[in-house]
Amino acid sequence: MFSEFRKKIDGALSKAGEKITERRISEKDLNKVLKDLKISLIQSDVALEVSEKICQDLREKLSGKEVKRTKINDIITESFRYTVKDILSQSTPNLIEEIKDSTGTSLVLFLGFNGSGKTSTLVKFASMLKEKGIEPVLAAGDTYRAASIEQLDKHGKELDLKVIKHDYGSDAAAVVYDAVEHAESEGKRVVLADTAGRAHSNTNLMDELEKICRVNRPDWKVLVIDSLTGNDAVDQARKFEEAVGIDGVVLTKMDVNEKGGAALSTSYSINKPILYIGVGQEYTDLERFNSDVIAERLLSE
Ligand code: GDP
Repeated sequence: MFSEFRKKIDGALSKAGEKITERRISEKDLNKVLKDLKISLIQSDVALEVSEKICQDLREKLSGKEVKRTKINDIITESFRYTVKDILSQSTPNLIEEIKDSTGTSLVLFLGFNGSGKTSTLVKFASMLKEKGIEPVLAAGDTYRAASIEQLDKHGKELDLKVIKHDYGSDAAAVVYDAVEHAESEGKRVVLADTAGRAHSNTNLMDELEKICRVNRPDWKVLVIDSLTGNDAVDQARKFEEAVGIDGVVLTKMDVNEKGGAALSTSYSINKPILYIGVGQEYTDLERFNSDVIAERLLSE
């Protein structure tokens, strides 16, 4: 994607027969190449408004600039890298350290669409905490989807962790409340709560989510987004941010999605940090987010 763009701008600045080694980049030079870049970004799952922002930033940085022909590629690459990093610039809190440092029991709520990878992320994070010597209590707060309680229970057994559960159809806020009470009475540092996967258009489930938050006041509301959802990631992130407020994002299935556009779009649209990325289906397939990796992914395409 990006190498194509660099070739085009190089071409635009070196018209046939031209001998000059240095010239000023004009608006006209930029118009065509930035239009192509915007299309390439959108094809890499970068949301339209974010693609426009990147192109605008590049325009401001490059327009009217005197450049040596041989340096054009370097200048464009650096400008692009800088713009991407700027969008991903929120510092990434270390959730494990935050839990360790807080007094009392922390509550981490995992939110997101059905199939986004909420339960998988929760159990991967539980396993990561266990590795660090913190034993979380798991709350089966998805009382809506058949099999989700069993799914969490199964992981709880595998990881040898306590799972607090009620029956299907019961009040999810009460499940989370009980889990926090249990953790507090056992002196446990953290509760990881699953929630029903919802569509942002699903008012009932959004109301339920608000109730869970009102009753239990989570310390961390972590939105889990499937990185394969592309442009829709922005819409999902905004809706959850409006409904309950988000503290951080986990992008899953980054092992399947080579592009990295969803990271850029989500981070830009709600201005919240990406905490972790999911990179597979094993317990150990959760990695701390690194913005350099995303910039390089987009540059290398
Ligand atoms: P939930 O409905 O949001 O709780 O989603 P699940 O946790 O049940 O995950 C849905 C599917 O996505 C399952 O098949 C998971 O194994 C898979 N999945 C979740 N995270 C990842 C990931 O990071 N990489 C891959 N390849 N698959 C994942």
